[in-house]
Amino acid sequence: MSEQTLAIHGGKPVRESYLPYGTQWLDSSDTQEVINVLKGDYLTTGPTIEQFEQKIADYVGAQYAVAFSSGTAALHGACFAVGIQKNDQVITTPLTFAATSNTILYQGGDVLFADIDSNTYNISPKAIEALITDKTKAIITVDFTGQPVEYERIQEIAAKYAIPFISDSAHALGASYHQQKVGPLADMTMFSFHPVKHITTGEGGIITTDDPVYAQKLRDFRSHGITRDLKRLAVSDQPWYYEMQSLGFNYRMTDLQAALGLSQIKKIEKFLAKRRAIADKYNEAFRELDLISLPYQLPDTNSSWHLYVIRLQLNKLKANRTEIFQALQKENIGVNVHYIPVYYHPYYQQLGYQKGLCPHAETLYQAIITLPLFPKMRETDVEDVITAVKKVLYYYEVPS
Ligand SMILES: *Cc1c(COP(=O)(O)O)cnc(C)c1O
Repeated sequence: MSEQTLAIHGGKPVRESYLPYGTQWLDSSDTQEVINVLKGDYLTTGPTIEQFEQKIADYVGAQYAVAFSSGTAALHGACFAVGIQKNDQVITTPLTFAATSNTILYQGGDVLFADIDSNTYNISPKAIEALITDKTKAIITVDFTGQPVEYERIQEIAAKYAIPFISDSAHALGASYHQQKVGPLADMTMFSFHPVKHITTGEGGIITTDDPVYAQKLRDFRSHGITRDLKRLAVSDQPWYYEMQSLGFNYRMTDLQAALGLSQIKKIEKFLAKRRAIADKYNEAFRELDLISLPYQLPDTNSSWHLYVIRLQLNKLKANRTEIFQALQKENIGVNVHYIPVYYHPYYQQLGYQKGLCPHAETLYQAIITLPLFPKMRETDVEDVITAVKKVLYYYEVPS
């Protein structure tokens, strides 16, 4: 069989080994920092946490940063801090990982999904405004793939209706909008340190904010709602006294994780440069390929390129997304799909969400494929992805 026979039809795959869509990049400097903490006095809630928080706050240009055991826990903290409770409505995007809207449900809130903009794939500011009622308690946006949302417009809407603006920036550490880093552009901003994200702590997440009241609520929330701050205690007549003033969780990050994060954040510029270089390569290689649409970037934004999402032009192809996805997998390219619209999941369906709710997100979902993109990718890995995408798409092209 020829080189061009698809692996799914028995041909030789473009790659021998499977290339994942994303993975961490650790070296001996990272592991050494973790070992140093293991040999010290604090495994958790020690001095490394505060150092890590300060580093992230400085990096994004925020006043405060509060670290959590995961990005999801951090976002839950933000929902608590703005006071979401039963019957409150919170507006968010359907094109995200389920964790974003789950954190609203944890607090008993109702999730209102606002449709996306078909160019940027980010939540549409118009769609947000159309959903606002006197029950709206917060807006949670997602910088999908690392492209910042339209912060100025969403800030305006949040200010006009006096609604807190929370950003799920799990994809967007290091991204910038109008020359400003993502972080201080919302009232609270979450970053995740899961291994596929820009830097990793194994599991971990953080909220950055400029608001001292939010920061304090977040600190209480991650540790059972307990405070030992003398100024805030109702009673302080005993030397051992502390108070549980709200219902919090054990959502603390360990010092081991913070040590890994401190080591990783030193490499953020290198990681971002690698991601951007790979995205540039893909853009260049696929520019002439009219069987797909490439990621669109808003002017004056700089994506952090967590993901590279191609959109198939299904009317020019003889196969659907599933067949093309499977063909690429067989070439040993670890393609993925981000995301299944959240309300398609059985849990949300059972809550009463109906298909058809967000038509732009649903139409997009039929046609998207995420290509591998991570800083440790070698040049040959990038070339393999390009070769495989062209091989598969040209095979399925409708002759004109
Ligand atoms: C990764 C991710 C999360 C959750 O972060 P974890 O650290 O895995 O809990 C939330 N939202 C989005 C958009 C994500 O990509």
